[in-house]
Amino acid sequence: MLPAVIALGSNLGDREDNLRAAVRDIAALGGVTVTAVSGIVQSHAVKPTGTDAEAPDYLNAVMLVQSALHPEALLIELNRIEAEHGRVRVERWGDRTLDLDIISFAGLERHTDDLTLPHPRAWERAFVIVPWLQVDPDAELRGHGRIDALVVATSSEVWACDAPPLWSES
Ligand code: ATP
Ligand code: CA
Ligand code: CA
Repeated sequence: MLPAVIALGSNLGDREDNLRAAVRDIAALGGVTVTAVSGIVQSHAVKPTGTDAEAPDYLNAVMLVQSALHPEALLIELNRIEAEHGRVRVERWGDRTLDLDIISFAGLERHTDDLTLPHPRAWERAFVIVPWLQVDPDAELRGHGRIDALVVATSSEVWACDAPPLWSES
Protein backbone atom coordinates (compact mmCIF):
# COMPACT_ATOMS: atom_id res chain seq x y z
CA MET A 1 0.00 0.00 0.00
CA LEU A 2 1.33 3.44 -0.93
CA PRO A 3 0.03 6.85 0.17
CA ALA A 4 -1.86 8.99 -2.33
CA VAL A 5 -3.54 12.38 -2.19
CA ILE A 6 -6.79 12.82 -4.14
CA ALA A 7 -8.49 16.18 -4.76
CA LEU A 8 -12.27 16.30 -5.21
CA GLY A 9 -14.23 19.14 -6.80
CA SER A 10 -17.79 19.88 -7.88
CA ASN A 11 -19.59 22.97 -9.17
CA LEU A 12 -22.73 21.49 -10.74
CA GLY A 13 -25.77 19.68 -9.38
CA ASP A 14 -25.95 18.87 -5.66
CA ARG A 15 -22.29 19.70 -5.09
CA GLU A 16 -22.07 18.50 -1.49
CA ASP A 17 -23.85 15.28 -2.34
CA ASN A 18 -21.49 14.72 -5.29
CA LEU A 19 -18.48 14.99 -2.96
CA ARG A 20 -20.09 12.68 -0.39
CA ALA A 21 -20.85 10.09 -3.05
CA ALA A 22 -17.30 10.30 -4.40
CA VAL A 23 -15.78 9.71 -0.95
CA ARG A 24 -18.09 6.72 -0.50
CA ASP A 25 -17.23 5.29 -3.92
CA ILE A 26 -13.47 5.74 -3.44
CA ALA A 27 -13.67 4.13 0.00
CA ALA A 28 -15.45 1.16 -1.59
CA LEU A 29 -12.68 0.55 -4.16
CA GLY A 30 -10.82 -2.72 -3.69
CA GLY A 31 -7.21 -2.00 -2.77
CA VAL A 32 -7.90 1.52 -1.51
CA THR A 33 -8.15 2.50 2.17
CA VAL A 34 -9.19 6.00 3.20
CA THR A 35 -7.05 7.48 5.96
CA ALA A 36 -8.37 11.07 6.13
CA VAL A 37 -10.82 13.44 4.45
CA SER A 38 -10.63 17.24 4.80
CA GLY A 39 -13.47 19.63 5.37
CA ILE A 40 -15.13 21.27 2.37
CA VAL A 41 -13.80 24.57 1.05
CA GLN A 42 -15.48 26.88 -1.46
CA SER A 43 -13.94 28.93 -4.25
CA HIS A 44 -14.94 30.78 -7.39
CA ALA A 45 -14.71 28.91 -10.69
CA VAL A 46 -11.58 29.61 -12.71
CA LYS A 47 -11.68 29.34 -16.51
CA PRO A 48 -8.74 29.66 -18.94
CA THR A 49 -9.61 33.39 -19.15
CA GLY A 50 -9.64 33.90 -15.35
CA THR A 51 -12.19 33.88 -12.51
CA ASP A 52 -15.74 33.27 -13.78
CA ALA A 53 -18.20 34.96 -11.41
CA GLU A 54 -21.14 33.76 -13.55
CA ALA A 55 -20.31 30.06 -13.07
CA PRO A 56 -21.42 28.28 -9.89
CA ASP A 57 -18.79 28.28 -7.11
CA TYR A 58 -16.80 25.13 -6.47
CA LEU A 59 -16.85 22.88 -3.44
CA ASN A 60 -13.51 21.11 -2.97
CA ALA A 61 -11.96 18.65 -0.55
CA VAL A 62 -8.85 16.49 -0.30
CA MET A 63 -8.62 12.90 0.80
CA LEU A 64 -5.64 10.81 1.85
CA VAL A 65 -5.67 7.15 0.92
CA GLN A 66 -3.44 4.11 0.99
CA SER A 67 -3.48 2.44 -2.40
CA ALA A 68 -2.55 -1.06 -3.51
CA LEU A 69 -3.54 0.04 -7.03
CA HIS A 70 -0.74 1.58 -9.07
CA PRO A 71 -1.31 5.21 -10.11
CA GLU A 72 -2.61 4.43 -13.61
CA ALA A 73 -5.12 1.92 -12.24
CA LEU A 74 -6.26 4.37 -9.58
CA LEU A 75 -6.80 7.07 -12.24
CA ILE A 76 -8.95 4.68 -14.30
CA GLU A 77 -11.14 4.03 -11.25
CA LEU A 78 -11.40 7.75 -10.49
CA ASN A 79 -12.38 8.51 -14.11
CA ARG A 80 -15.06 5.81 -13.89
CA ILE A 81 -16.46 7.32 -10.68
CA GLU A 82 -16.51 10.78 -12.32
CA ALA A 83 -18.43 9.37 -15.27
CA GLU A 84 -20.90 7.57 -13.00
CA HIS A 85 -21.66 10.90 -11.37
CA GLY A 86 -22.52 12.58 -14.61
CA ARG A 87 -19.18 14.14 -15.52
CA VAL A 88 -19.21 15.34 -19.13
CA ARG A 89 -16.02 16.82 -20.64
CA VAL A 90 -16.83 19.73 -22.95
CA GLU A 91 -14.40 22.63 -22.55
CA ARG A 92 -11.15 22.94 -20.63
CA TRP A 93 -11.88 23.66 -16.96
CA GLY A 94 -15.61 23.58 -17.81
CA ASP A 95 -18.29 23.31 -15.11
CA ARG A 96 -18.59 19.75 -13.79
CA THR A 97 -20.51 17.55 -11.38
CA LEU A 98 -17.34 15.84 -10.20
CA ASP A 99 -13.60 16.16 -10.73
CA LEU A 100 -11.17 13.72 -9.13
CA ASP A 101 -7.45 14.44 -9.52
CA ILE A 102 -4.46 12.55 -8.18
CA ILE A 103 -2.35 15.26 -6.57
CA SER A 104 0.49 13.11 -5.36
CA PHE A 105 1.22 9.39 -5.27
CA ALA A 106 3.98 8.22 -2.93
CA GLY A 107 6.19 11.08 -4.13
CA LEU A 108 6.42 9.47 -7.60
CA GLU A 109 6.92 11.34 -10.87
CA ARG A 110 4.95 10.47 -14.00
CA HIS A 111 4.86 12.24 -17.35
CA THR A 112 2.63 10.24 -19.67
CA ASP A 113 -0.26 11.34 -21.92
CA ASP A 114 -2.81 10.31 -19.31
CA LEU A 115 -1.05 11.04 -16.04
CA THR A 116 1.24 13.71 -14.67
CA LEU A 117 2.52 13.28 -11.11
CA PRO A 118 2.59 15.22 -8.99
CA HIS A 119 -0.37 17.18 -10.39
CA PRO A 120 1.36 20.08 -12.18
CA ARG A 121 -1.01 22.85 -11.03
CA ALA A 122 -1.69 21.70 -7.45
CA TRP A 123 1.01 23.93 -5.94
CA GLU A 124 -0.76 27.16 -6.98
CA ARG A 125 -4.30 26.12 -6.08
CA ALA A 126 -5.61 27.20 -2.69
CA PHE A 127 -8.58 24.86 -3.13
CA VAL A 128 -6.10 21.95 -3.07
CA ILE A 129 -3.44 23.20 -0.65
CA VAL A 130 -5.79 24.56 2.07
CA PRO A 131 -7.82 21.35 2.56
CA TRP A 132 -4.67 19.21 2.15
CA LEU A 133 -3.01 21.12 5.02
CA GLN A 134 -6.02 20.36 7.22
CA VAL A 135 -5.36 16.62 6.97
CA ASP A 136 -1.54 16.68 6.68
CA PRO A 137 0.16 19.79 8.09
CA ASP A 138 3.63 18.35 7.36
CA ALA A 139 2.92 17.36 3.74
CA GLU A 140 5.44 17.99 1.00
CA LEU A 141 4.77 18.29 -2.72
CA ARG A 142 7.57 16.94 -4.88
CA GLY A 143 9.39 19.84 -6.54
CA HIS A 144 7.78 22.45 -4.28
CA GLY A 145 8.74 21.50 -0.74
CA ARG A 146 6.48 21.84 2.27
CA ILE A 147 2.93 22.81 1.42
CA ASP A 148 2.57 25.04 4.48
CA ALA A 149 5.02 27.38 2.72
CA LEU A 150 2.78 27.47 -0.38
CA VAL A 151 -0.45 28.27 1.35
CA VAL A 152 0.39 31.80 2.42
CA ALA A 153 0.05 33.20 -1.07
CA THR A 154 -3.17 31.42 -1.91
CA SER A 155 -5.35 30.94 1.18
CA SER A 156 -7.54 34.02 0.65
CA GLU A 157 -9.01 32.47 -2.49
CA VAL A 158 -11.02 29.88 -0.56
CA TRP A 159 -13.51 30.00 2.28
CA ALA A 160 -14.87 27.34 4.58
CA CYS A 161 -18.17 25.55 4.05
CA ASP A 162 -20.45 24.86 7.00
CA ALA A 163 -21.23 21.22 6.22
CA PRO A 164 -21.13 18.00 8.25
CA PRO A 165 -17.91 15.94 7.84
CA LEU A 166 -17.56 14.03 4.56
CA TRP A 167 -16.17 11.04 6.37
CA SER A 168 -16.23 9.36 9.74
CA GLU A 169 -14.12 6.36 10.73
CA SER A 170 -17.02 4.10 11.74
P1 ATP B 1 -6.64 20.28 -14.25
O1 ATP B 1 -5.77 19.11 -14.64
O2 ATP B 1 -6.02 21.61 -14.55
O3 ATP B 1 -7.11 20.20 -12.83
P2 ATP B 1 -9.15 19.22 -15.18
O4 ATP B 1 -9.14 18.45 -13.90
O5 ATP B 1 -10.36 20.03 -15.49
O6 ATP B 1 -7.89 20.21 -15.21
P3 ATP B 1 -9.74 17.01 -16.79
O7 ATP B 1 -10.53 17.36 -18.01
O8 ATP B 1 -10.48 16.48 -15.60
O9 ATP B 1 -8.85 18.26 -16.37
O10 ATP B 1 -8.64 15.93 -17.12
C1 ATP B 1 -7.93 15.92 -18.33
C2 ATP B 1 -6.94 14.76 -18.30
O11 ATP B 1 -5.93 14.97 -17.34
C3 ATP B 1 -7.53 13.43 -17.89
O12 ATP B 1 -8.04 12.75 -18.98
C4 ATP B 1 -6.32 12.69 -17.27
O13 ATP B 1 -5.88 11.63 -18.10
C5 ATP B 1 -5.25 13.75 -17.23
N1 ATP B 1 -4.42 13.77 -16.02
C6 ATP B 1 -3.06 13.93 -16.03
N2 ATP B 1 -2.56 13.92 -14.81
C7 ATP B 1 -3.60 13.73 -13.95
C8 ATP B 1 -3.67 13.62 -12.53
N3 ATP B 1 -2.59 13.71 -11.76
N4 ATP B 1 -4.90 13.43 -11.99
C9 ATP B 1 -6.01 13.36 -12.78
N5 ATP B 1 -5.99 13.44 -14.14
C10 ATP B 1 -4.79 13.64 -14.72
CA1 CA C 1 -8.82 19.28 -11.77
CA1 CA D 1 -9.41 16.19 -13.54
